[in-house]
Amino acid sequence: MSKVNLLNFNRENLAACLVEWGEPAYRGTQLLQWIHQKGVFDFDAMSNLSKPLREKLKEKSEINFLDIVLDQLSHDGTRKWLFRLSEGNCIETVFIPEDSRGTLCVSSQVGCAVNCTFCSTGKQGFSRDLTVAEIIGQVLLASRLLLPQKKAITNVVMMGMGEPLLNFNNVVQTLDILLDDYAYGLSKRRVTVSTSGIIPKMIELKKRSPVALAVSLHAPNDELRNVLVPVNRKYPLSELMSVCSDYFKEEPRRAVMMEYVMLDDINDSDLHAKQLIQLLKNKAVKVNLIPFNPFPKTTYHCSPMEKIKKFQKKLMDSDIMTTIRRTRGEDIEGACGQLVGKVEPKNKKIKNKNNDDIK
Ligand code: SAH
Ligand code: SF4
Repeated sequence: MSKVNLLNFNRENLAACLVEWGEPAYRGTQLLQWIHQKGVFDFDAMSNLSKPLREKLKEKSEINFLDIVLDQLSHDGTRKWLFRLSEGNCIETVFIPEDSRGTLCVSSQVGCAVNCTFCSTGKQGFSRDLTVAEIIGQVLLASRLLLPQKKAITNVVMMGMGEPLLNFNNVVQTLDILLDDYAYGLSKRRVTVSTSGIIPKMIELKKRSPVALAVSLHAPNDELRNVLVPVNRKYPLSELMSVCSDYFKEEPRRAVMMEYVMLDDINDSDLHAKQLIQLLKNKAVKVNLIPFNPFPKTTYHCSPMEKIKKFQKKLMDSDIMTTIRRTRGEDIEGACGQLVGKVEPKNKKIKNKNNDDIK
């Protein structure tokens, strides 16, 4: 009989599993605490569990981690791990330390089916969804591996490989564990899901989890967005904007983060800025301009910094809160869109997924 991996469960599912094994539901909370809060993985060390329960856990379950293939430290303190999954594919996780916080950028799929033209993960194609254990496992492992550096994870962003909302069920259960006071206890403002704009799933997410939302906008009109973010053909800008403007309606001080990658002579002209202002003005959004991170074989270039600053100023002059993302970890290919799960010998090229949400 194969053992269940306890990392796959949020509190509710752990409780249900224990009840099925004839135990009271609160044992689930105790287990969640041991694993995620205390980092104890040896059942015999779980001192508030009865001896028979510990034996039962050993017999029926396991705490199964990802394998660490690479652990790289950038000169700017950014740390990147390459984790190997059971079938041999690899995923990447990046930790970005700043003065007052430490952000972990987590992957949700192996590859990505959305196929944005400026993203190396997209170029790689799609292989499969990550399980809850594989997504939360990145947080669990990173938090343990950061202990010697005395660094803590204060923020988690689903901005690694993959489109989180196309792995909805596993992602929302992972969010539960991140927010759970008996696990990581992160506040809803410190956990962000970034999406290319899978509208039905955005609406579901709003009902299911109170986390922060970032949207990969990247273009101010449908014609250009159809090219850069092909899922726009299915979920066009007018519909996307209507979901975004209402997203935090009940919380007037929260805003959706619009991500806009700066591509030289593609989406960074004065006209693009003007169109963007028109699209976003008086909406509950803020903008994050992302300098494009190049990768092999791309034909795009990053806009020069003066152009990015000029673009920012135009938006700010129209009262749209706009920041420029500082690129981190470039020397270890840990920056946005550079994550490809690269390992020698290289991952096999994987084919695109047939997924109804993006067709
Ligand atoms: N699939 C999700 C989350 C992962 S991508 C999404 O698209 O939102 C995280 C962010 O990095 C997105 O805003 C994405 O558009 C951006 N990105 C992708 N490739 C990039 C690149 N080469 N340079 C800079 N940003 C990039
Ligand atoms: Fe997928 Fe996001 Fe990359 Fe687009 S930008 S291909 S949605 S990971």
